[in-house]
Amino acid sequence: MKSVSPTSNHPVLHLLRQCKTLDTFKRVHAQMITTGLIRHTYPVSRILYFSSALAPVTYTLTIFNQVLNPSIFLYNTLVSSLTREDHIQVALSIYSRILTHFSVIPNNYTYPSLFKAFGSHQWLKEGKSLHVHVLKFLGTPIDEFIQASLVTFYSRCGKVGIARYIFDRIRKPDLATWNSMLSAYACNATPSLADNIHGNTGFSLEVLSLFSLMQKSFVVPNEVTLVTLITACADLGALSQGTWAHVYVIRNNLIVNHFIGTALITLYANSGCLDLASQLFNQLAHRDAFCFNAMIRGFAIHGRGNEALGLFRKMIQVGFAPDGTTILSVMNACSHVGLVDEGRKYFESMKSVYRLEPKIEHYCCLVDLLGRAGLVEDAEEIVLSMPMKPNAILWRSLLGAARVHGNLDIGEVALRKLLELEPENSGNFVLLSNMYAFLNRWEDVKRVRTSMKRLGIDKTPGSSIVEVNGSMHEFLIGDRSHPKVKDIYLKLEEMNKRLQDYGHLPRTRDVLFDIEDEEREEALSYHSERLAISFALLESDASAPIRIIKNLRVCVDCHSCTKLFSKIYKREIIVRDRTRFHHFKNGTCSCLDYW
Ligand code: ZN
Ligand code: ZN
Repeated sequence: MKSVSPTSNHPVLHLLRQCKTLDTFKRVHAQMITTGLIRHTYPVSRILYFSSALAPVTYTLTIFNQVLNPSIFLYNTLVSSLTREDHIQVALSIYSRILTHFSVIPNNYTYPSLFKAFGSHQWLKEGKSLHVHVLKFLGTPIDEFIQASLVTFYSRCGKVGIARYIFDRIRKPDLATWNSMLSAYACNATPSLADNIHGNTGFSLEVLSLFSLMQKSFVVPNEVTLVTLITACADLGALSQGTWAHVYVIRNNLIVNHFIGTALITLYANSGCLDLASQLFNQLAHRDAFCFNAMIRGFAIHGRGNEALGLFRKMIQVGFAPDGTTILSVMNACSHVGLVDEGRKYFESMKSVYRLEPKIEHYCCLVDLLGRAGLVEDAEEIVLSMPMKPNAILWRSLLGAARVHGNLDIGEVALRKLLELEPENSGNFVLLSNMYAFLNRWEDVKRVRTSMKRLGIDKTPGSSIVEVNGSMHEFLIGDRSHPKVKDIYLKLEEMNKRLQDYGHLPRTRDVLFDIEDEEREEALSYHSERLAISFALLESDASAPIRIIKNLRVCVDCHSCTKLFSKIYKREIIVRDRTRFHHFKNGTCSCLDYW
């Protein structure tokens, strides 16, 4: 076989490029045989390429098998053509033929297509073995194309750390590789709607810092990059950086398509700017179901149940079919405003109207809805009769309801299940002790506390993030690491005095353990959100609302204090806690003390 060919411009090849059907393709193939073109490497590579798109796999393999001593170039072409058409198993069998032939050895072009295919199917084990092959056959340093394909592969498989390790060793990553790395963080930070609105904030922070590195490297971001960036900002509630991204989109004439639109709606909704979110939603030229979902969810998490339901009706009216996420938001909306019957109706409509199979999230939401409304027995019945095995979230939700409504029998059943499923989760012990506290069983409260200590179970530390003048500041309980720590604590003292003037009594005596944690009597006033509020009062513009993101639920005492702070300091304070938003304004909260 001749390898260098004067044949790359042959008219038959031109015909080949125009093939759209199997028939025309076969005719061109015949011409290639009669003209003898088929004996040259380049034309064969082209025919393999088109054959895998138009003809059955067996046809393509037959062409290949007729080639005498195929070069590694032809092997690579076949492997990548096959993976492109998702014939991965066949591609792998061709790859193993390379390994068994003495005349060919794999090179840099052998691997990227395989990693791409493995990544999109999340074949981690297979991909790892292939990675070993790369090291064995090609050695180090690894070629940049292979590195880039490895980043994408590990990202897709959720192995963010490995992806980053490889990424950091690429000298000049291209846009696609930057996007792979950024979206690796974003995808793995995405929260599930079911139990909380927080994702892995560490990963979202990483997106932000990686993006600033990207800017320094002069790679110009595209729409895909910005969707990732905005999504990370949405997760963090990083309003100013998200807004910066929005401005960037506009200034660089990027299109606010429905992907960017959805990300921006989520950003503004998550940052407490619901009106901006809804304005943007109304201005979008093209809306898909995802845009509707984002907006309905926005209304739901802000407790604006009726607007969520109104938009849902509109979504149906304009002809979009709701999916599981839509119904979940709608049920959440009902749950937050106490529309029990409506919520139940939507749950039932999933099967009967929309032919959707309710998932465990939907059962969770239903149990939450019933539990909050005090229908603890109904909630228990759902848990006991649902088609799948109830998970910890469900039992916790039932336990929460049982505690609030003082149903000890159901509470103890739920707790036993919960401790079976999650013996190490400190939150479960806290819930148990809360239940005993509610019933004034102080001996039992003490017992729980001691056994926690004995088992060495630590409580999750509460943390609050506040954005002040464009940068994010994080506070832990009793945190003294902030550079302005002195001023913050002085301000806190003043704040406590003002609270006393308003007759506020800290709830330290009747609640030993608060809703989730953090509350040791002496530490109440050092809860992370108070430090964040103190800092924001000191440093931020007096007319701007204070926006705080907290990783746990806000405790009873902090909730009533924050209400007072909003009145005393005439500041709007928006707290996003683990499950919902609280808009504190003029001494009241949007949750109406129901959270
Ligand atoms: Zn608190
Ligand atoms: Zn509230």
